Amino acid sequence: MSLEPSADPAADRRANYDYRSDDVDRPALVDDLETLVDCEVRADSYSRELYATDASPYELTPIAVAFPESTADVTGIVDYCAEREIPVLPRGGGTSLAGQTVNRAVVLDFSRHMNEILEINPNERTATVQPGTILGTLNEALSTHDLKFAPDPAWGDKSAIGGAIGNNSTGSHSLKYGKTDAYIEEVEAVLSDGTVTTFGEVTLEKISDRADSDGDLEGRIYAEVDRILEEEGNLIEEAYPDLKRNVSGYNLDRLVAEARGKTMPGGEDTGEPGTVNLARLLAGSEGTLAIVTEATVSLEPIPETKAVTLLCYSDLHDAMRDVEPILAHDPSAVEVLDDVLIDLARDTAEFGPVTEILPDGTNAVLLVEFYAEDADHGKEQVAGLLADRFPSATPTGVPSADAPQTEAETLAIEALEAYEKEERAQLWKLRKSGLPILLSRTTDEKHISFIEDTAIPPAQLPEFVEGFESILEDHDTYAAFYAHAGPGVLHIRPLVNTKSEIGIDQLHGIADAVTDLVVELGGSVSGEHGDGRARTQWNQKLYGDDLWRSFQDLKTAFDPDWLLNPGQVVFREDDPTDLREHLRFDPDYEFEAGFEPELVWENDNGMQGMVELCHGCGGCRGEQETTGGVMCPTFRASREEITTTRGRANGLRQAMSGDLEPGEAFSDEFVEEVMGLCIGCKGCAIDCPSEVDMAKLKAEVTHEYHQRNGSTLRDRLFANVATLSAWGSRLAPLSNTASKLPGARKVLEATMGIDSSRSLPTFHANTFRDWFEKRGGAQISEQEADRRAVVYPDTYTNYNHPAAGKAAVRVLEAANVHVTVPDELGDTGRPAYSKGFLETARETAHENVSKLAPLVEDGWEIVVIEPSDAVMFQLDYGDLLTDERVVQVAGATYGVCEYIDAFRLDEEIAFDADAAGEALTYHGHCHQKATRKDHHAVGVLRRAGYAVEPLDSGCCGMAGSFGYEAEHASMSDAIASILYEQVDESDGERVVAPGASCRTQLENRPGATEEPPTPIEFVDAALE
Ligand SMILES: Cc1cc2nc3c(=O)[nH]c(=O)nc-3n(C[C@H](O)[C@H](O)[C@H](O)COP(=O)(O)OP(=O)(O)OC[C@H]3O[C@@H](n4cnc5c(N)ncnc54)[C@H](O)[C@@H]3O)c2cc1C
Ligand code: SF4
Ligand code: SF4
Repeated sequence: MSLEPSADPAADRRANYDYRSDDVDRPALVDDLETLVDCEVRADSYSRELYATDASPYELTPIAVAFPESTADVTGIVDYCAEREIPVLPRGGGTSLAGQTVNRAVVLDFSRHMNEILEINPNERTATVQPGTILGTLNEALSTHDLKFAPDPAWGDKSAIGGAIGNNSTGSHSLKYGKTDAYIEEVEAVLSDGTVTTFGEVTLEKISDRADSDGDLEGRIYAEVDRILEEEGNLIEEAYPDLKRNVSGYNLDRLVAEARGKTMPGGEDTGEPGTVNLARLLAGSEGTLAIVTEATVSLEPIPETKAVTLLCYSDLHDAMRDVEPILAHDPSAVEVLDDVLIDLARDTAEFGPVTEILPDGTNAVLLVEFYAEDADHGKEQVAGLLADRFPSATPTGVPSADAPQTEAETLAIEALEAYEKEERAQLWKLRKSGLPILLSRTTDEKHISFIEDTAIPPAQLPEFVEGFESILEDHDTYAAFYAHAGPGVLHIRPLVNTKSEIGIDQLHGIADAVTDLVVELGGSVSGEHGDGRARTQWNQKLYGDDLWRSFQDLKTAFDPDWLLNPGQVVFREDDPTDLREHLRFDPDYEFEAGFEPELVWENDNGMQGMVELCHGCGGCRGEQETTGGVMCPTFRASREEITTTRGRANGLRQAMSGDLEPGEAFSDEFVEEVMGLCIGCKGCAIDCPSEVDMAKLKAEVTHEYHQRNGSTLRDRLFANVATLSAWGSRLAPLSNTASKLPGARKVLEATMGIDSSRSLPTFHANTFRDWFEKRGGAQISEQEADRRAVVYPDTYTNYNHPAAGKAAVRVLEAANVHVTVPDELGDTGRPAYSKGFLETARETAHENVSKLAPLVEDGWEIVVIEPSDAVMFQLDYGDLLTDERVVQVAGATYGVCEYIDAFRLDEEIAFDADAAGEALTYHGHCHQKATRKDHHAVGVLRRAGYAVEPLDSGCCGMAGSFGYEAEHASMSDAIASILYEQVDESDGERVVAPGASCRTQLENRPGATEEPPTPIEFVDAALE
C-alpha cells in the first residue's frame, strides 16, 4: 500500500473518506442504479440529509442522491425511476430560496461532475456549457473575451446554469438584461421518460407538424404547446402581469409573445412572429418539465464604464415614489435599502463605516447605477438624473441637453456620487449589507424567505409598501425592505418563529394577504426566486383557474406521471403543496444537543442558536477564484457537500434534532467525516453571511467526543505540543536528528498516524527566550521608551523559529518600545482548544490571563508573533472564560504587525530603502483574516519599502496539526494546491507569511526554495 499523499482527498486510502454513513436506506436502489449507470449513487443517511435542504426554510429527506457524469447517466436514472414511479429532482448549487430543491426524490447533483464549459464562441457570442457550470466560473472564463452571461443573480458565484434556467434567474441589472430566459438559445434535455431531446428555436409550423397527442412523449409535448398557442394566447396575454420580472408559474407569456412577435414587458423585442424558442419554456420551470443536460446561452459585452449615485431620503415611502421618475433616465440598476437595515448596518463592524457617509436624517437610500461609454458619459448621466431628481445638487458632470425632466415632485434629501471602482464598491457594499445582517439572528424568530421577492409595477410601489406594512402590523411582526426597486422587486423577509403555531399562522396569513395585495396591484408573487414550496400554492390565485389548469396540462404533457420535482410551480388537486409543510423548523421540532456546552455562547439561544444559524445559502460553496475569502477550504478541495460549512451545520442540526440517530454527533464516523474534516480556519465566522462559527462548534463536539470515547495518544500529544517542543528544544540537536533517521517517519506514521511525507519542525536549543536573556533583556529602558510591550514567547516562535522573535524585539526597539519576554508565560492553549481539550485550554487561558491582566492594568501591551496565538487572546479566550479580565487582556493584545500598524510605530523607524527592494507575495493567516487583522502586515511591509502583493487566499491547509495527521494529509495537500497556484500566479520574488503552519506548507510548494520568512523578519531586514 502506498503511503504517498494524494492530491485527491477521496483517493487517499489512509483517509478512508467516503463522505457517507454506513446506514444505507435503500441498498437495492443504489445497487440497481450503480449497475445501470457509471456515476455514483448514495442513499446513506448523511448524504440524504445533506440534500434535504437548500437556502429555503424547508427540509425533506430525499430518497437518494446521484452525481451524474454524462447525459447517459441522467437518462439511465430517469428511465429507471420512471418505470418505478420514483420522483427525480435536478439540482445545481442548491441555493434556491423557496424550497425548489427540497423534495422526496432522487436528487441529481449536477454541480460535481457535469460542470464543464464545452465551448465559447466569441464571434457568435455564445457559450455551451453543462448544467452544473457555476455562473461565476463561466464569467471568469468569458472575461478574457470581454463577454459575460448577463443575468447576475447575487449568488452567481455559487449558482449553476441549470439552476439559473430552473429558476429563470436574474439580478440587480435586470433593467438592462432581463432574465435568464432571454439568453437561452438551445438546450439538450432529458424528458421524464428518459428520452434525450433538443429544444431551441422552432417555427409554429414545425410545432404543428411534430404535434401528436397520441404519439410518443415528444409528440405529446408539441401537441400541448400547439394547443396552448392556438387556444390560450389571448388568456395568457391578459392574465400575465405586465412586469419586467415575473418568474411565477410557467413561462407561457414569453412563448406567446415570441409566437406573436410581441414585445416583452420591459421592452425586449422578440423578433418576427411565427417562431418560438422552446428551450425558454424550461426557464423558471424549476426542474418540473425536463432536465437540462447541456445549454447554449448567448452572451453580452462587459460594459465599459459605470457611474453610481446614491440618493438619500428621509423615509422609504419617498424613495418608493421616486423610483418611477428615476427609471425615465434609463439606469442599469435602481436598488433600495430601508431604515431598518441602515440602522442595523450602523451597528456592525463591517458595514458601520460605510453608513458614516450617509447624511443625518437618511432613512432610505436608492442606489442608481448607469452603464456608460466612458467616464464623462457616466458623469453626464448622473448629472442628468440629479438635475431632475435632486436639483440642488452640484454634480461633477454636466447633463446632456436631452436629459429627461420629469414632472414629479423632488423627494431626495441628498445625493452622493461615485465613479471610481472603489467608491462604487463602497456604495454597493452598503446596498448589500442587508442580507448578512438579517440572517445573523440566532433567535427562534428568523427573517424567513416566503414572500421575499414580490414584483410590483414600479408606479405601484408606494401603495404596495404601505399595504405590506399594514399586513405586517396586522400580523404583529416587521420586516426590512431592500433590493431591486427599479424592476419593482422588493426583498422582504418578515420576522417569524416557525417553531410556534403562531408563527405558522403568521406564515400563511401574511403570504395569503400579500398575494391579494400583489394581485390587486398587478404584480407577481415572485419576481426573482421562483415558486418552490413557498409560493406554488399562490399561483392559482395569481393566474386564475383557467391558467392554473393550463399549467397542470403542460406539466402532464411533459411529465405524465408527475415525477419531475413534483409539487413545485403547479400541483395536482389530490396532492397540494402547502407552504406550512416540510419546514425545517416547525412546532414539532425538538433540539437536544446531548451535552452541556463547555464554551461561553453569548449569542441568543447559545450553542443551539449557533447550530441552527446556517440558513443554507451555499455561500460556503464558492470557489477561490471567483469568491475569494477563506470559506470553505475543504469544499474547495473536495467539492463534496459534506465538507462545506453548510454540510457540517446541517449534519449537526440534524444529529441534534432527531433526523439522524440519537448520539450520532458523537459517533466515530460523524466526528471523523463531518466535524473532523473541518480544519478550524474560522473562514466561516467571517465569510458566511450568518457568521456560522463552525470552528467553535467543532471544538464543542470534539470535546464531548473525548468525554464519551476518550482520546488518542496523538491527539493528546498535539494538544500538548508546548511540552513536546520544550523537550525537543532541550534535546536538540539530537531530537532533530532522530526524526531524520531513515525510516523514522514511517515508524511515526505506522505507530502514531503522523504523515510520513511531512518533515517535522526543527527545535532550537537556543530558544527565543534564551536569546533575549543572553542579550541582557531590553535595550530600551522603560524610562526612555514611548511604550511598553510584553513580547509573548509563543511555542512556535520560542522553540522552532526564534528568528521571528528576535526580529520583533529589534523592530519594536527601533520604534522606541521597551520590551520584555517573561519567563513564566507558556503556551496559549491554542493546540488544546483546536483538538477539543477544552478544560486544558481553559486552565491555560486562566493562567495566562491571571499573569497578564496585572501587566495590562499597569499599562503594558501584549504583542504576539504567531497569528493563531494572537487570536487566541483576542477572541477565543472569550469563549473559554467569563472572567472580565479576558476582555482587558484581549483589548491590549496585538499581532506584531498589527501593533506596529495600529500605533504607526514604523513612523519612528528609519528604513533602508535598498534593503527593502524586493517584491513580496503575502499570504495572510486565516485566523487573522477572520478577525479582520490581516491587512496590518501588508501596510507595515509597504511602508518599510517592499512592494507587496497580498493574496486573496484561504487557509493553507496545514491548520496546526491537521496536515500532519496521516488521514488528513491528502485533504491538507489538496487545500494547499489552491494556495500554491495563487502563489505561482503572483508576481512576488519571495513569499512572506506570518503563520507557522502556512510557512511549513509553503515550503513544500513545488519549486519553493525556502520556508517563507515572517513579515516581521522582512521589516527587521529593512531597518537602517
Ligand atoms: C443569498 C442569496 C441571494 C440570491 N440572489 C438571487 C438573485 O439575485 N437573483 C436570483 O434570481 N436568485 C437569487 N437567489 C436564488 C438562487 O441563488 C438563484 O435562483 C440561482 O440561480 C439558483 O441556482 P442553483 O444552481 O443554486 O440552483 P438550484 O437551487 O440547485 O436549483 C434551482 C432550480 O433549478 C432546477 N434545476 C437545477 N438544475 C437543473 C437542470 N439541470 N435541469 C432542469 N432544472 C434544473 C432545480 O430543480 C430547482 O428547481 C439567491 C439565493 C441566495 C441564497
Ligand atoms: S454556513 Fe453560512 S454560507 Fe454556508 S450555507 Fe450556511 S449560512 Fe450560507
Ligand atoms: S472553520 Fe474553515 S474548514 Fe471549518 S467549516 Fe469553517 S470555513 Fe470550513
